[in-house]
Amino acid sequence: MNWKTAIVIVAAALLITRSARKKGIMLSKNFSLDEFTRSKTANQLGISNNPGPIEIANLQALVTNVLQPLRDALKLPINITSGYRSKMLNKAIGGATSPISQHTKGEAADIVSSNNARMFNYIKNNLPFDQLIWEAGNDSQPDWVHVSFRMSGNRYKVLRYYPGQGYEDI
Ligand SMILES: [Zn+2]
Repeated sequence: MNWKTAIVIVAAALLITRSARKKGIMLSKNFSLDEFTRSKTANQLGISNNPGPIEIANLQALVTNVLQPLRDALKLPINITSGYRSKMLNKAIGGATSPISQHTKGEAADIVSSNNARMFNYIKNNLPFDQLIWEAGNDSQPDWVHVSFRMSGNRYKVLRYYPGQGYEDI
């Protein structure tokens, strides 16, 4: 092997390791940290969206206590449409500011699957949660489900969000 080939191989190995480190951290069997931090808006606006250790611990608790058990019970692939949001990103997308969105603490995720109502009802009836929101949609399906989890003091609040009108306890 000549030195040019060796350099190419080393450079490729370094690139693979770097991207694996960034994308490859698994929080559970089916959920990677990357799914909770990627954001098109953050990329477009050049806003950093890196959770700190406390936020990562909160995301881990959300996955371990709610999302992975939900995935296992329903056997449905679940997509995270919004997970962790840095305070700047939350502001940029118009997220809740008072009280500050639980997305900024790593305590919340917006999720979708092929059956959002089933996810909502399964969480409501079987899993621990702090807030569970039927987001938009209609009476048979929400457009997405917002779920949050706290390591202590879960409130078990169940809400429905009507776009342009606000939240209602259900
Ligand atoms: Zn949300």
